Amino acid sequence: MQGSPLFFAVSSSSMGDAMTATAIYASRILAPQEEYTDCVMTVEDGRISAIGHRDEVHIPPGAADYVASGLTVIPGFVDVHIHGAGGRDVMEATPEALDKITSTVARFGTTSMVATTVTAPVDVTCKSLEGIAKYIRAQKPAAERDRFAAEILGIHLEGPFIAHARRGVHPPESIAAPSVAVFKQFLEAADGTVKMITIAPEIPGAIDLIHAATSEGVVVGLGHTDATFEQARAAIDAGARHGVHVYNAMRPFNHRDPGVIAAILTDSEVTAEIIADGVHVAAPALQVLLGTKGFDTVIAISDGISATGMPDGKYRLGEFEVNVSKGVARSAEGNLAGSTLTLDRALRNLVGLGVPFVDAVRMATILPARRLGVAGKKGIIVVGADADLVVLTPEMKLAGIMTCGVGLS
Ligand SMILES: [Zn+2]
Repeated sequence: MQGSPLFFAVSSSSMGDAMTATAIYASRILAPQEEYTDCVMTVEDGRISAIGHRDEVHIPPGAADYVASGLTVIPGFVDVHIHGAGGRDVMEATPEALDKITSTVARFGTTSMVATTVTAPVDVTCKSLEGIAKYIRAQKPAAERDRFAAEILGIHLEGPFIAHARRGVHPPESIAAPSVAVFKQFLEAADGTVKMITIAPEIPGAIDLIHAATSEGVVVGLGHTDATFEQARAAIDAGARHGVHVYNAMRPFNHRDPGVIAAILTDSEVTAEIIADGVHVAAPALQVLLGTKGFDTVIAISDGISATGMPDGKYRLGEFEVNVSKGVARSAEGNLAGSTLTLDRALRNLVGLGVPFVDAVRMATILPARRLGVAGKKGIIVVGADADLVVLTPEMKLAGIMTCGVGLS
């Protein structure tokens, strides 16, 4: 973890489990829908129990004090597109692998995540979905949390219903035409935990699949797609509301053939994921995206793979190998293969590009939570929400992290 431990004082009892009450005294809390200064927040049973000016908030007896002088508290980051971390991949789907991933990303401030699959044979995907779903169902409620780790909110199916022409590093042999029957198989294996699916809408059968997914409450993202503007528009009209790592693995924008990118950029109902690692998207292209869509519909993602939080070397993404050099992940053919980005770094990169701090925080917290329909519980600091918190220095370095009431220093 980064940040200076000398910056604040914390009593050791606040490193306990979610049963311990904590009073957090902060110079600034960015909720982020509201801003509090010279304030205190209390955490009880893993949730935020009060927030306000120091004179107004009742401190529970026996609460551990955490003093964040000169620091800003924001909600923990919510990552809707992440494949792995700490040397492990979500497709492994074992409790050990998922424990490692969730505890690794938490060290970088990601307190909830959507486990993202990659294209694989149907039976392999189903086996992974079963494992991840079992893990999700076994997660303890906030009040009983005893592990410092991100919560897995659900599953993002990235593939197999994508375009060969824009597959990136997804293995071509497992790419499949959109099939409602196969999708239903995935839903069943995932026991109701699928939250998002990436689809190439130009492939025959995609519109039926979009209807089927939206009627199940699954967010449909356009991604790994060679769709024209008209094909992407038809998908949005059918219910697609999200763009998956916008610019990457998409038909490029052209002024006479503006494609899927223009469809995403010109519809305010559609959210746009962005990998702000300085490698996947050139800064001016990111500025075009933000200038067109504004700050309310752009969502920072990591697209992080198993190499996240690890040294350079060879790692796996789903069933294939990836080389990581200077933190950049590539396939044997040299294509970008996810990232090793963490959302704390994405936040600093966005601010570095001129995005106001408050808006950059929203892009990594409340906006992804809203897209998933969990904005009262995650990505927000409000009474009743899970106590998922990140404490930042004025340089936006991590100074403390809490996941459902566990941790802080
Ligand atoms: Zn992808």
